[in-house]
Amino acid sequence: MNTRDATDGAIVNALSIDVEDYFQVSAFAAHIPRASWDGLPCRVEQNVDRILELLASAGVRATFFTLGWVAERYPAVIRRIVDGGHELASHGYEHFRATDQGYGQFLADIRLAKAVLEDTSGCQVKGYRAPSFSVGPRNYWAFECIAEAGYRYSSSLYPIHHDHYGAPDAPRFAHEVFKGLLELPITTVRMLRSNWPAGGGGYFRLLPYRVSRWSIRHVNAVDGQPALFYFHPWELDPEQPRVKGPGAKARFRHYLNLERMDPRMRRLLTDFKWDRIDRVFLAERA
Ligand SMILES: [Zn+2]
Repeated sequence: MNTRDATDGAIVNALSIDVEDYFQVSAFAAHIPRASWDGLPCRVEQNVDRILELLASAGVRATFFTLGWVAERYPAVIRRIVDGGHELASHGYEHFRATDQGYGQFLADIRLAKAVLEDTSGCQVKGYRAPSFSVGPRNYWAFECIAEAGYRYSSSLYPIHHDHYGAPDAPRFAHEVFKGLLELPITTVRMLRSNWPAGGGGYFRLLPYRVSRWSIRHVNAVDGQPALFYFHPWELDPEQPRVKGPGAKARFRHYLNLERMDPRMRRLLTDFKWDRIDRVFLAERA
């Protein structure tokens, strides 16, 4: 049974934000040493505030998968997220891909992130999303770490073909990885025997808005499932500093249509019902 709106019976979808700054994205990692992060102009706090205003004006609550690194430096914005009625979740401490780490390293990173986020917010953190969707059937051990660290759900699969990530053969909808751990994949639409991205990322900025709207409607009506959508604070910031070094493809994906993101998000927030992940997916399993 899915969460439905009390007034019109529409399916309530889940909205999420991956809270990281423009210089922490995996596609730029080879060109921006971690040691330089502290010296770069940070935009994440002002961009999260922009998102909080956007959500407040639409009356929408969401889930913020936040880096421990961000929470340590900007505790006030973490409190504003929680005070706004949103769910705080974990994106790891330092944006390391699980595929670049071993069991012990990965477990330490996601444990540290959970502790920092809980200390800063005073709230229990239930959810984890791996940087660049780097957890999946190929490194199943990472799910054991996520459960061991005390998380109740993961949202680390995007069941599509992509050159940097993706698990195209993974289940498309919410499922128990094993007892005690739910996986909530980013939404895809099934067409022509393939899965197509329908839950955000560069595709949302690349393709016309109506493609995303049609896809989410299709998932709600045909699959009878809530959609799970994600975006980043830097996607709403056309004035962010330009990073030199990454190839043309990485730059195209990162900077494309940033100025269209704000009006598109406003349409998305009004065209569908949205809520926090824990309320959409965990309510009946609580
Ligand atoms: Zn990320």
